[in-house]
Amino acid sequence: MPIRLLRPDVSSKIAAGEVIERPASAVKELIENSLDAGATRISVEVRGGGSELIRISDNGVGIPANEVELAFQRFATSKVSSVEDLDGIKTLGFRGEALPSISAVSRVTLVTRYERESEGTRFEVHDGETVGNEPAGAPTGTTITVRQLFRNLPARQKFLKTVGTEISRIQIAVTRYALAYPEVRFELNPDKGRKFASPGTGDLRAVVAAVYGLQNAEGMLDMTPSDEDDLSPMVWGLVSPPSMDRANRSYICFFVNRRWVQNRFLSFALEQAYHGFMAERRFPMGVVNINLPYEDVDVNAHPAKAEVRFRRENQIFGAVQQAVRHALVTYSPVPEVNRLTSGHSPSHARTQATSGAFWPTTPFARPSPSERDRLAEIAGWTSDHDAAQTHPIADVTPESEPMIPKNALPVLRVLGQVQTTYIVAEGPDGMYLIDQHAAHERVMFERVQAQAVASTPEIQSLLEPAVVQLNPEHQELLEAQGEIIGSLGFAIEPFGGDTFLIRGVPALLGEGDPARALMDILDLMADGGGFESWEERAAYSIACHSAIRAGKVLSHQEMMELTRQLEDCVQPNTCPHGRPTMIHLSSSRLEREFGRT
Ligand code: ADP
Ligand code: MG
Repeated sequence: MPIRLLRPDVSSKIAAGEVIERPASAVKELIENSLDAGATRISVEVRGGGSELIRISDNGVGIPANEVELAFQRFATSKVSSVEDLDGIKTLGFRGEALPSISAVSRVTLVTRYERESEGTRFEVHDGETVGNEPAGAPTGTTITVRQLFRNLPARQKFLKTVGTEISRIQIAVTRYALAYPEVRFELNPDKGRKFASPGTGDLRAVVAAVYGLQNAEGMLDMTPSDEDDLSPMVWGLVSPPSMDRANRSYICFFVNRRWVQNRFLSFALEQAYHGFMAERRFPMGVVNINLPYEDVDVNAHPAKAEVRFRRENQIFGAVQQAVRHALVTYSPVPEVNRLTSGHSPSHARTQATSGAFWPTTPFARPSPSERDRLAEIAGWTSDHDAAQTHPIADVTPESEPMIPKNALPVLRVLGQVQTTYIVAEGPDGMYLIDQHAAHERVMFERVQAQAVASTPEIQSLLEPAVVQLNPEHQELLEAQGEIIGSLGFAIEPFGGDTFLIRGVPALLGEGDPARALMDILDLMADGGGFESWEERAAYSIACHSAIRAGKVLSHQEMMELTRQLEDCVQPNTCPHGRPTMIHLSSSRLEREFGRT
């Protein structure tokens, strides 16, 4: 094809697709507009997962009658006027792309009245064409209705997931803004799924209660802004004590100058602050606000404005870490003690069982990696261990040792444990190092699958049902995948609102707090762990939740048992993700390495 300029109706749709990826992105852009207009109440109505209808009403300043048409033109904005303005953007919007993009791929009706005008405007655009513009009575503020989103983009329509999934993305978008703006009252009314409302009182903890449930909100620790000097970044918000850990990062939100941002580097800073307090592969909850001089952030780095760049990254990293650490050190032990003595909490038993392990009180309880290094050093292993990891001759990855088929795993004699993570064993042909977590995960995974396939989950009925509050995402998941979750051995009943009763749990989970286990498993399921089918996701979630962790001291008996169980597996040499459960150092290799041949 020769090069041609695209017709404007084609290019506008392509541009729209970049800004508006799915219904949730339209909701996000429209909420940002309402917030920029100074709204204190924002309500969102959704039908058909947003594809059918999205309606957002606000009580912001509204749009002057003579500017309404302009607002729908590409790059028309009231928020930025010069290149210099881009250096310190204070508003959530600044590109003037949302309204033109949304209206290019849907039918939009906007009713607005500017605060200083007595009459409002009703404006209508279909597929980018203005079809109505007339005066109308309206309260101050703006209501925008988007119907049939992507009606003229069948390719995009096909790419959308189920109504439930789209609603849950919208829910995430709305709840994020509610967390960032506690003084604004948000309401979300979807035709399917849960409603959401934030109180709008300015109290962040009250919003956390609305989003994550009361129990979680009560347990969170305050991070108060340090007022030492105005130059440093100000960090404030709420973070969880180490005992309220989660299986994934989805309970962590960062807001930079009240804009939700995604940034690996910030997550890392937060997780680092928990280093030594939290078990491996567990994550805290947190609503972390960072306030910076506007010139120090570049928000113009991503089409959806979700990624930002910092001028002084290290300073921010340090400030986040310090603020979180401070909160942990100041408050953490207190809620732990309260929970242990109050006795009313359903997580009583589990807290008692594990809190000691999260807090490094006894050196061998659950050593952090640095602690492990220290212990190894004392034992004089550090150099050997490092060499084993980095030295090319010690490259004994499973690639060099092909998969051992079922039952070909030789009978192993357990010798001991290294770094409270690996079991050392001897086989007929040399030495084996078994990763205890990976191995146990494999064992549990196959058991869960076998029981599910045979429809014979072993259920452990609870004498007293456990009460659990589930967030909207968990509720969706429970609704959509209830059958699978039930087939694993969970017996769950709704108990009104966001509260549920757990009457039975899979026996494989063993001891522990059932509410915590359920939430954990739902988190892991939502994450997927890389598995496509929900059955596999569910099996993996249980396996991952219940598998013994690295860092746990195992008795000789326990190690022998685990090794036997692994020998019985269909695929003993990989964990459910395909990572090795063991590495093998053959006798001939040992001989070669020691120059015996
Ligand atoms: P941007 O937000 O980047 O400026 P938009 O296309 O989202 O671009 O909006 C264009 C303009 O329309 C905004 O700059 C603002 O002046 C006006 N506008 C949009 N939505 C609202 C609203 N809810 N209340 C008041 N003004 C609005
Ligand atoms: Mg905007």
